[in-house]
Amino acid sequence: MRAGIGFDVHLFKTGRRLVLGGVEIEYHKGLIGHSDADVLAHAIMDALLGAAGLRDIGVYFPDSDIRYKNISSLLLLKEVKKIINDRGFEIINIDSMLILEKPKVSPYIPAMLKKLSDTLELDPGRIGIKATTTEGLGFCGREEGIAVQSIALLE
Ligand code: MG
Repeated sequence: MRAGIGFDVHLFKTGRRLVLGGVEIEYHKGLIGHSDADVLAHAIMDALLGAAGLRDIGVYFPDSDIRYKNISSLLLLKEVKKIINDRGFEIINIDSMLILEKPKVSPYIPAMLKKLSDTLELDPGRIGIKATTTEGLGFCGREEGIAVQSIALLE
């Protein structure tokens, strides 16, 4: 059994798409990033890579690489699954905590679970997605960005 943690933050910008767990969320601002800035997918990838004893996503998918410009992070997540499977690891479960003040994401969580479950070929019952605010405190509370913490268990 191997556990790994992931953490990521992206900054909000008006007019960008907001994509979390592969699901586009209706909001007047989205996250800035080289890829689609799917902060949830990024934190999960780092948790998976860490559990496998590997380096972070910046090493595998550098933001200097034009191939990853505006790419769906689910494609990168699929690639990470392949990397860990090739090393003999299978995912037992993943849990994540989205930290944001707005928008309300709970109506979108079932769709995120479906996308992540399909991408990882993993039973949705093995994927946790939760959300919390910081009661208005800090950069998440000021709605400047979204942070995500993830943990993954591999065998
Ligand atoms: Mg990121």
